[in-house]
Amino acid sequence: AKSLGRGSFSFYVKELSDRATHRVEMEMRLRRAIEMGQLEVFYQPQVEIASGRIIGAEALLRWRDDERGYIPPDQFIPLAEQSELIVKLSNWVLEQVSRQGRLWLDQGYAPLRLAVNLSPNQLRNAELIQHIDTTLQATGFPAEQLELELTEGTLMHDPEQAAERLNQLRKLGISISLDDFGTGYSSLAYLKRFPLSVLKIDKSFTRGLPQDLEDCAISRTVVAMGHALGMTVLAEGVETQEQLEYLRDLGCDVYQGYLCSPAVPAKQFVELLSPNDKR
Ligand code: C2E
Ligand code: CA
Ligand code: CA
Ligand code: CA
Repeated sequence: AKSLGRGSFSFYVKELSDRATHRVEMEMRLRRAIEMGQLEVFYQPQVEIASGRIIGAEALLRWRDDERGYIPPDQFIPLAEQSELIVKLSNWVLEQVSRQGRLWLDQGYAPLRLAVNLSPNQLRNAELIQHIDTTLQATGFPAEQLELELTEGTLMHDPEQAAERLNQLRKLGISISLDDFGTGYSSLAYLKRFPLSVLKIDKSFTRGLPQDLEDCAISRTVVAMGHALGMTVLAEGVETQEQLEYLRDLGCDVYQGYLCSPAVPAKQFVELLSPNDKR
């Protein structure tokens, strides 16, 4: 740093404070967005490969800002995770999803499994279980239809505590899926200790199917391992018919991806369901 000229030092300081300002400003906007109802939950279908039926959806958060337009979750969720905002945000998502899920049941749609992403801080939060339980009771959304998505990183941060929390969630009837599988530093020895129902093959592996031999080998191995451990295996990021055919041949159970649909507002989501899905 000593070798840097005066000019570059002050530039550095300016850049730092800009970044801090940006963070504070974004956080303020996000708070306001929550209060003003500018957040929206979108739903991306999850399709059973054997039948082609939509059996559930992943809830994905969207923020529409009047000035900046659409802000992708990657730009504000990591920020929210740095403060207690993430708890507020996640509670809101869970509430929306539970209400929506209950509404679809009341409208006569066959039960859909709705998946909500859980961030690392939430699993550490001692009030998590109580809050989820209360929300399910209040909305009347069946726990059996709720799935929580966690990443390997979230589990490995404190495996003992994570296992305990997941067991409590399982007892409520909630299922757990392991998100972005293969991208984190997972230990297979630990994996078997968690009550996981679904293994999600990360889209970075799906992308190379069926040309990339390594991606094929990894996908094949994940499907075999998941099944051996009694789990459902879901492939993320399926964009082409060829990828789907390959996954079908592997015996992969469920897929999610642009081939079926991107995440869409609740109203559009039900239009994707077949008439048979209404009882
Ligand atoms: P994720 O949980 O891995 O979600 C999957 C991402 O892949 C989504 O991006 C989805 O729109 C995108 N995707 C789906 N199908 C395809 C495909 O065929 N091709 C490609 N290239 N991408 C596809 P999105 O919605 O931008 O979300 C990004 C991340 O933000 C999510 O990654 C998740 O980690 C986080 N996130 C989103 N909503 C929430 C939330 O409510 N709570 C928390 N804690 N995190 C969330
Ligand atoms: Ca996810
Ligand atoms: Ca994922
Ligand atoms: Ca490769």
